[in-house]
Amino acid sequence: MNITRRKFIAGAATAGAAITLTGITGCSSGNGAQADGSITEETSDEIAATATKEADIVIVGAGMSGLTAAVSASEGNSTVILLEANSVVGGNGQGTEGIFACGSSLQKELGIDFSFEDVITKELEFFNHRTNALFWKDMVSASADNIDWLMKQGVKFGAVDNYRGQGHLDGFHWYADEDPYNFITPMLESAEKQGVEILLETRGRKLIMEDGSVAGIYAETADGSYIQINCKAVILASGGYADNDELLAELGVDVKSIARKGFPNHNGDGLDMAVSVGGVDTRMSHCIMREPGCEGYGFETALGAMGVHSGGPFMFVNENGKRYTDENCAAKNFAYAANCVLSQQKSYAIINEKCLAWLDENSSPGIVDAAEDALSIGAKAYKTNTIEELADAIEVDPEILSSELERYNDLCEKGNDDDFAKDQSMMQTMDEGPYWAFKQGLFYFTTMGGIRTNRRFEVVDKDYKPISGLWAVGADGCELYKETYTVMVPASANANNVNSGRTAAQEALTYCKTL
Ligand SMILES: Cc1cc2nc3c(=O)[nH]c(=O)nc-3n(C[C@H](O)[C@H](O)[C@H](O)COP(=O)(O)OP(=O)(O)OC[C@H]3O[C@@H](n4cnc5c(N)ncnc54)[C@H](O)[C@@H]3O)c2cc1C
Repeated sequence: MNITRRKFIAGAATAGAAITLTGITGCSSGNGAQADGSITEETSDEIAATATKEADIVIVGAGMSGLTAAVSASEGNSTVILLEANSVVGGNGQGTEGIFACGSSLQKELGIDFSFEDVITKELEFFNHRTNALFWKDMVSASADNIDWLMKQGVKFGAVDNYRGQGHLDGFHWYADEDPYNFITPMLESAEKQGVEILLETRGRKLIMEDGSVAGIYAETADGSYIQINCKAVILASGGYADNDELLAELGVDVKSIARKGFPNHNGDGLDMAVSVGGVDTRMSHCIMREPGCEGYGFETALGAMGVHSGGPFMFVNENGKRYTDENCAAKNFAYAANCVLSQQKSYAIINEKCLAWLDENSSPGIVDAAEDALSIGAKAYKTNTIEELADAIEVDPEILSSELERYNDLCEKGNDDDFAKDQSMMQTMDEGPYWAFKQGLFYFTTMGGIRTNRRFEVVDKDYKPISGLWAVGADGCELYKETYTVMVPASANANNVNSGRTAAQEALTYCKTL
């Protein structure tokens, strides 16, 4: 099975219903999204559990970071319960392609040599020095050992490169056969072998606190009943809030116009639980991984990825028909493409038939068929014989669009983009129809960060004081990324998932021994 960010299956991406959150919105707890999307109503803070369990450590979410935490925690002499809201483990990890590391045994064999300094210099610049470099230092320092440890669990890696040109260092460790199940399956088997109790279709819902420390968690089962799990430590690994309309809308996201490309059930439960016991909501300072494609059409097609990986010969115009950017910016970082689309009220990618055919032949095979298909199913794709007709179709002033195209063609012929400094190889004259326009919609993959933690991944309160017995890992607690998803060292997210999961598990084991 190989469903990655690039080759995504639309059917897997339906989000669970978003829920009302206690800690963040101040509403009552217990509104539970069921497997069928319906919502159960609980108006009391008291939850009547129908079963009770005991464990040392409970991990909420069995994706990349949760599986890692479960395997690591079960290496100690402790009882571990792993909760997973879906019917399968893996979460968005099922879409991942690899893991970043620096100085791994695989890199040494290949003669690849770079240092933390090479990583952090660029990342600090990328984030305008707003990221805490110590989190990066911890992640990079542990990354080689983490790869060895994963291989000991049976995780299989293949090539190591710079993510086919997207990154600047050869730190991307591809899973063998580029198959995420070469991570998920062995990690699941290790967890099972080491005695982790895995409860599928069981959703962590509410922390139980005693004297300011975590004492347990209520979890909701598929039939809507609750289990009370008494435990000493909880690790939140629920993968963020990309499926929660309310939390996204608070960040200014127009939730009606976006499409979700992550796996379901990223409802912000970790964030809700952390905030409800005094944790700090840091969503405003973190990013969302999102990419543009043709609105109303599948991202997993050549058309969906248009202008994303390779940039391309498109001309991007806004709601006024004005060209507004270097359309090839995605060649540096795919996340730039979403940022530039978001800088305008609306964005259209304009191209003519000849350039579309060039793309089909050179970098996006199948894009011509995909464009016709998008047109036939009524997605936001438009095809006309003249540029004036295209302007009418996308409701911009024909004079403005014609003159913008004329200017663009002049710059192509001149051999220099005086306006936005686009790479000249992607400046291709569009002097004849038919012309195409694709309205650029955004596909949301995952949120990154939201719960404040310290370097040991303990959830901290507004005074940076740890909340006893509570950790947040993976996308829930990711402190590395600020406003834009970075791919300068691609798969640093996964390196963080593994590092935070492993670190938090070891910290939780030590903590449990003190009780
Ligand atoms: C398609 C795609 C491709 C990606 N590719 C890469 C890549 O190649 N490299 C990279 O570094 N990053 C990649 N990312 C980013 C990626 O999301 C993460 O790095 C990774 O999956 C995050 O791990 P996680 O453990 O935080 O979340 P996830 O892996 O998503 O796991 C969270 C799990 O928690 C479960 N859950 C949620 N709420 C609850 C609850 N209340 N109770 C119980 N379970 C719950 C979810 O169902 C899910 O299984 C990709 C993301 C997507 C969507």
